[in-house]
Amino acid sequence: MKITKEFRFEASHKLDTNDKCDYGPCSNLHGHSYKMYVTVEGEINPNTFMLINFKDLKEVVNSEIVDRIDHTHLNDSFSKLYKESNIRLKILDKALLGNKVYTTCEVMSTLIKHIIQKKLGCKVSIKLYETATSYCEV
Ligand SMILES: [Zn+2]
Repeated sequence: MKITKEFRFEASHKLDTNDKCDYGPCSNLHGHSYKMYVTVEGEINPNTFMLINFKDLKEVVNSEIVDRIDHTHLNDSFSKLYKESNIRLKILDKALLGNKVYTTCEVMSTLIKHIIQKKLGCKVSIKLYETATSYCEV
């Protein structure tokens, strides 16, 4: 069984240029109105008749993620979010801890998934829309 809640936030970022990829106009400072679906997977609780209370899911996602990155510059706020989490993944180390920072939709949804999953202790998936027609699902 899965339940999903939608979240929205606004933020700026830029993909720092490197010799491995041409990010085109994404290497300029720009902003997005992000839309994010957080899905929790599990079984119905026989005491509450819910998988998770939507109110609890909203509080966790807002306090752990949205309140910390909404209306921020993601190159700064996402690096900080990663440093302050106890999550360590090689790809996120490389994307978020160097002199250059890569807040791609893929990097962002991966970190968000791990943070929420750790906090809730159940399987979580993220669908993060960077634009109306482009999203990453993890
Ligand atoms: Zn962008």
